[in-house]
Amino acid sequence: MIRDGTYRFVNQLDIQIKCGIPMAIEHQIIWNPTMDINQFYFTYAYVNHGRWIADCPFCNHSEFVFKNDLFFTCFHCFNQVAGGKRIKVILDPRYQEIENILNKRRNKENQNWFIYEEIEKLEIENSIMGVI
Ligand SMILES: [Zn+2]
Repeated sequence: MIRDGTYRFVNQLDIQIKCGIPMAIEHQIIWNPTMDINQFYFTYAYVNHGRWIADCPFCNHSEFVFKNDLFFTCFHCFNQVAGGKRIKVILDPRYQEIENILNKRRNKENQNWFIYEEIEKLEIENSIMGVI
């Protein structure tokens, strides 16, 4: 089963409270959780080892994607380039089809999809590897 952040958190606000605040304190970063959105920056969701994640466009750190809340806060740099505001996550509209194909793969390590990959390629890979 391809997971998103909801397997551990409710949504972006929940992860900001449970993860972001302790991280900011630990690293002595002044950061106020905010639901504000920066309109200029964005990141793409992709699947890595059975998880929907996205890379921070500022520092390349990765975070969980929430399909029910497509915004991103990096708990490494805290989106400081974006004024500390959340940025949009772009989720491929064919995400359900991608998940269906990847869910046929038994090992999470083999459940991967990146934004430049054609979906047909995933099906061909399944076929070659005998995944039905
Ligand atoms: Zn970052």
